[in-house]
Amino acid sequence: MKKIMLVILALSTVLSVSLRADSKIKVVTSLPDLKSITEELGGDHVDVFAIATGFQNPHFVDPKPSYILKLSDADMFVTVGLDLETGWVPPLLNSARNSKIMKGGEGYVDASVHVPLLQMPTSVNRGEGDIHIYGNPHYWLDPLRGKDIAQAIYEGLARIAPQHQAEFEKNLISFNAKIDGKTKEWITKMAPYKGSKIIAYHNEWVYFEQRFGLEIVDFLEPKPGIPPSPGQLAKVIAEMKRQDMKVIISSPYFTTESADLVARQTGGEVVVLATSVGAEEHIKNYFDLFEYDIRQMVEALGKHSTK
Ligand SMILES: [Zn+2]
Repeated sequence: MKKIMLVILALSTVLSVSLRADSKIKVVTSLPDLKSITEELGGDHVDVFAIATGFQNPHFVDPKPSYILKLSDADMFVTVGLDLETGWVPPLLNSARNSKIMKGGEGYVDASVHVPLLQMPTSVNRGEGDIHIYGNPHYWLDPLRGKDIAQAIYEGLARIAPQHQAEFEKNLISFNAKIDGKTKEWITKMAPYKGSKIIAYHNEWVYFEQRFGLEIVDFLEPKPGIPPSPGQLAKVIAEMKRQDMKVIISSPYFTTESADLVARQTGGEVVVLATSVGAEEHIKNYFDLFEYDIRQMVEALGKHSTK
């Protein structure tokens, strides 16, 4: 009897959870970082799915049919914008045919709208397959710009579900306060290494660099999106030797050969940072992302400090 009661209890729990899930706001985000911030603001009212994983290059994601299904059923879609997802988000949205989440629809959220952008070009040039043509799109790697992202997501949620606006606003205020507090801690941890010169694989760290007082001198990619060339690697190796630089930062989705080669030639070290939530199993939210990256940087810079 007790067993049967337990089974009934379990079944009814499952049923009520699934019923409640149905009334949630269905949100799809391009990146897991946008998912994390949406969950911070939406709380129990949102059910969020991120298309890209945390260890995929956000410029290049395979548009799978299952994503189209998610999008066709979504109430809201959140994108980094600029030209970050230009190869995969427009085809997915066009196939999903959900006018609510198309550009201009009430459920379409471009997370960049409130972000002060860096590296804005003086003219838009698509020549030679250039990327980052509207400014650097990797802005979520500055936690303070996370507040600008949150503002855009908040506005989207309030449009979709105005009945919960007060709750979203309360969550926005506490998210912002937590970001401010944590960012202060992270800046303090990085302070001893202010002005450290480093090399990066791809030009995706400019926001992180400015926030935490680093100086990225050059990249392994000769231009964003163009794979490292022997000429570029030789130039970087010479620069590292000349300026006694030891740290090369890379991302989980780049092959290690070029960075390892440069490290061997210079006695340097490759530090693979997380660029998104989920890059490592324990990086479960937007705060974990910076906890991890700051820890990695402090460890590497502490070892190789030339200041
Ligand atoms: Zn990029």
